[in-house]
Amino acid sequence: MHISAKFDGGNIKVIDAEDERNIALEIVKDHQSDFYQWFHFKLANARPTEHVLNIVNAGNSAYADGWPGYRAVASYDRVYWFRVPTEFDGEKLIISFTPEYDSVYFAPYSYERHQDFLHRAQLEANCQLQVLGETLDGREISVLKIGQAGEGKRVVWLIARQHPGETMAEWFMEGFIDRLIDKADGVARSLLDHAVFYLVPNMNPDGSVRGHLRTNAAGVNLNREWADPSMAKSPEVYLVRKKMLEVSVDLHLDVHGDESISVNFVDGCEGIPSYDQRQKTLEDNFKALLLAITPEFQDQHGYDKDEPGTADLSIATNWVGELFKCLALTIEMLFKDHDELPDDRMGWSDQRSRILGRDFLTAI
Ligand code: ZN
Repeated sequence: MHISAKFDGGNIKVIDAEDERNIALEIVKDHQSDFYQWFHFKLANARPTEHVLNIVNAGNSAYADGWPGYRAVASYDRVYWFRVPTEFDGEKLIISFTPEYDSVYFAPYSYERHQDFLHRAQLEANCQLQVLGETLDGREISVLKIGQAGEGKRVVWLIARQHPGETMAEWFMEGFIDRLIDKADGVARSLLDHAVFYLVPNMNPDGSVRGHLRTNAAGVNLNREWADPSMAKSPEVYLVRKKMLEVSVDLHLDVHGDESISVNFVDGCEGIPSYDQRQKTLEDNFKALLLAITPEFQDQHGYDKDEPGTADLSIATNWVGELFKCLALTIEMLFKDHDELPDDRMGWSDQRSRILGRDFLTAI
């Protein structure tokens, strides 16, 4: 048996792999940070016996509340991803698994897939792939501009994966963008008559390739950088913010995943100093539309509301809402499975994230 995480997004340290019945693994912390939860590795020469993989430091990870009931994501062909049950004893996350083939991956979404996606989208006539600048590791911060700016046109921004371990956010962007560029889709065509879209499918490519949960190459949580970003420690935010200031924002959606809460929800900017009835009405209307469109969205459970005037303006949604006085929402998706619409084999999956992305287009 052989375990490797030497590929983009890979994260695991092998402590002991002598006995396949008692393998000890550790998740590696984000560089210059104490955050960890994301793991991504390959188990090879594994068929056909049962393997017991103990992630021994799971109990001290960033969101240990997320482990009970968690099912790991695995694939033999790196296209079809299925769920593998785990147990959590408060300390170790235990994956007991008998592979059907020789080699199996745990956890998806590579940097190469990200590039494939950007380059496929740019082939559309109304789509531009723009590079805003460089990350600390020298990767591009890319934005897809879809549609044409013009008199009276709204400017819609979607950003995803500020937290790189929340890969469901980029699957969501695939669904959203594939629909937006579909010339046979009347909703998309009508939207493009009224709006131009700026879409950042991956805000944190360095963290993604490094196998981080929550931070960039300098160990910085990008979603606490919006009030005062710098090229020295958060160029990703600095560059996207600069573009927003240049072209403006009429609607902002920031796509994430939450480890613990077993439903999809949105979180608004009700705590910003200038929050008013207009912003509340926009938010209420948008949520009512989503409720009508899909049972995968709900508005009962989510984060506690900020008290008026107490919002943290270093968070993207709050900073955008305050500056541009627009509808600004954080979207939180599931890591595990939807309580009311469970799927035993797949859980909350790449496909469901993509479909939810398409549904948000309808609501817009
Ligand atoms: Zn997040």
